[in-house]
Amino acid sequence: MKNQEIMQKDLKFNWHPCTQMKDHEFLPIIPIKKGKGVWLEDFEGNRYIDAISSWWVNILGHSNEYINKKIKEQLQTLEHVIFAGFTHEGAVRLSERLCKLTGFDKVFYADNGSSAVEIAIKMAFHYWKNKGEVRDVFLSLKNSYHGETIGALSVGDVGLYKDTYKEILIKNITIPIPENQSEEEAIRALREAEKIFEKHHKKISSFIIEPLVQCAGYMKMHSPLFVKGLRELCNKYNILMIADEIAVGFGRTGTMFACEQAGIKPDFMCLSKGLTGGYLPLSVVLTTDEIYMAFYCDYEELKAFLHSHSYTANPLGIAAANAVLDIFEMKQWKMENGKWYSVLDRNRKLSQYIWDNVQKFKSLPNVKEIRQTGMITAIEMKDYPWQERKGLKVYEYGLKNGVLLRPLGNVIYFMPPYVIEYDEIDKMINVAYDGIKKVEE
Ligand SMILES: *Cc1c(COP(=O)(O)O)cnc(C)c1O
Repeated sequence: MKNQEIMQKDLKFNWHPCTQMKDHEFLPIIPIKKGKGVWLEDFEGNRYIDAISSWWVNILGHSNEYINKKIKEQLQTLEHVIFAGFTHEGAVRLSERLCKLTGFDKVFYADNGSSAVEIAIKMAFHYWKNKGEVRDVFLSLKNSYHGETIGALSVGDVGLYKDTYKEILIKNITIPIPENQSEEEAIRALREAEKIFEKHHKKISSFIIEPLVQCAGYMKMHSPLFVKGLRELCNKYNILMIADEIAVGFGRTGTMFACEQAGIKPDFMCLSKGLTGGYLPLSVVLTTDEIYMAFYCDYEELKAFLHSHSYTANPLGIAAANAVLDIFEMKQWKMENGKWYSVLDRNRKLSQYIWDNVQKFKSLPNVKEIRQTGMITAIEMKDYPWQERKGLKVYEYGLKNGVLLRPLGNVIYFMPPYVIEYDEIDKMINVAYDGIKKVEE
């Protein structure tokens, strides 16, 4: 098919995610022919830097040779097998590695982030039920995002996605968040949080948090102290804690997992997105023996967790995930100026470079704030009325100039694959700068 034909047939047959399809009357849909590293290429030879890691999933570049090889190898032996009553080598290896990395004891598999969140909140609820208590309320942060299925949407708080469905959601209470990344703000917000814990704790089964960065929530960031304080509140009031590291896991915030910076261990951790390097849909819920044992008994007691997905622990996805962990383990991943770097070491250098280079945004009159956590850098424009869709204008400008940015409202952000080179960072930042400057003219 030719470019034009793909575009036409796409709009005839496809309904795209998170999109008002009528926008495509003026906004061309872009067929992508191939990807390599941070670059996406369309059928007309236009190239775009994938500055958002294809919705935050692609951490190690498109068409990564090592991951490609590992998936091909897996494909030669086993594409999929039922994961109830059966297992496979890749799943055993991956689970052992994830447990060693995080200090958890058990891994439950699913195939996307929202499902992982559903599993964690169901397990938390079910844990209390197995212990003889019905705790039917969930606790989360204001402005949080945990996915789109009804349970995940219920514990989220982004009105744009949630409000339409308010009549059919499950019970959830939200905690105010810090205004910024300072420790003073964290302490203030924790004081507010404690009032809520104190008042409602008896009926709350779990508290869920995206540690350090609320990604879909306009890239709002908070101090590790806030996460630590919330873990302490969960301990004090006997509430299970779920860390949703679906977007922030796998090196995105500077450490392998964001919880490390707060020095805490939650009761559940949800991972997806970067887990397979952005190749295949896979997610996991990590938990402790303490939770696991509340379900472990004779069948007749009917306490088992009877949840499943057809593609649970898909071997191809797992082969990709094992390959991703191999890459993180490499001490000699990339050579620069005669020195070897691991992924995480190089990320620290990259984020410093990005931070130094975004300082110039401060001189733009329509930029309100710049903030960064590891490999996430956000530029918040002033409060343009949402109807003006200034973010969309920056998006269009980016595409015309070879950079895929996908602003969240008035927030432009950089969340590139870790394979990005310094000159590519320059281009990404300069195009965003010019785009932001232009929307004010
Ligand atoms: C993307 C995301 C989800 C949902 O994952 P899907 O695979 O899109 O269902 C949940 N939580 C967070 C923090 C996310 O960023």
